[in-house]
Amino acid sequence: MTKTDILIIGGGAAGLAAAQYGARAGRTVHIVEKLAPGGQFMYIDKIENYPGIVEPISGFEVADRMQKQAENFGAKFIYDEFVSFEKKDDIFYVKLKNDDVEAQALIWATGAEHRHLNIPGEEEFQGRGVSYCGTCDGPFFRGKKIIVIGGGDTALTDAIYLSKLSDDVTIVHRRNRYRAQANLIDQLNNSKIKQELEYKPVEILGDEKVTGLKIESTKDGSQKTIDADAVFIFAGMLPQTELLDKDLVNKWGYVDTNQSMETSLKGFYAIGDVRNTPFRQVVTAVSDGAIAAHSATEYIDEINNNKY
Ligand code: NAP
Repeated sequence: MTKTDILIIGGGAAGLAAAQYGARAGRTVHIVEKLAPGGQFMYIDKIENYPGIVEPISGFEVADRMQKQAENFGAKFIYDEFVSFEKKDDIFYVKLKNDDVEAQALIWATGAEHRHLNIPGEEEFQGRGVSYCGTCDGPFFRGKKIIVIGGGDTALTDAIYLSKLSDDVTIVHRRNRYRAQANLIDQLNNSKIKQELEYKPVEILGDEKVTGLKIESTKDGSQKTIDADAVFIFAGMLPQTELLDKDLVNKWGYVDTNQSMETSLKGFYAIGDVRNTPFRQVVTAVSDGAIAAHSATEYIDEINNNKY
């Protein structure tokens, strides 16, 4: 059994920042991660929009540095899986697959995963033309036929990025209006990207690799096939909250917090992509982590002072 001041579940950008800030504030900090820390970092080929980063750097490199930094301040990593928790008398009793942990504060930093379309061919051709990350896999399809699915900010941002690698990019969106920000729609309309509006994807075709996408009109049900070497899917994110009590999760599956990252349960914080936040970026995730560690530290002082 492990005892700690702060327990963090999830070792992405938010969790690593919280670990570093909590440990540097003199708390014992443990961070639970299934495999290797990094989270969505691992999908970022080059980070170039993080303030102060002039020479682009890979997500892997940043995650590695953040882990070392947190460890240098004393944070400890537990390679295990979260199962459940309950709170009794100001202590969080956390069950992991292979250990039990008692913590005074708990920080939820499990992130969000890419939503899948669940159509034939999607799983089969993953890594063989089907991708969920333009910056990671785009360069493999330089000059090739590329399809982008979705109508949100990510789909349009990545379609525009991919159109710099290939002159043959088509965006497929199931409605006749995009969900994305107006400036992205303007950029899309001023680009060479072909647009198939009011079509939904029904099957990803291929043999060894992707060869095309079958789409169906959402107006009249007619179907057609577009040739493709790659299909990039940007259908939104699924916050990783299925192991949390329903009271802690909003109707979209995210955890609501206040500006101190506090949830409706005292001592329980949520940070990064899993929380209800207007902007999901590395810079916002690490900011969440720093704030939560600070809030947790103050909360721990408060409960301990009240005991005497
Ligand atoms: P999103 O806004 O949820 O968009 C997902 C898109 O996928 C929607 O257009 C949706 O269509 C479509 N979709 C979902 N399921 C589908 C299905 N089964 N078949 C076909 N299409 C499907 O997700 P996102 O673009 O990843 O953005 C997530 C968040 O990150 C947003 O808050 C966004 O503002 C933010 N973000 C911001 C930036 C930026 O500021 N530059 C960049 C990236 C992301 P419908 O529209 O019909 O629902």
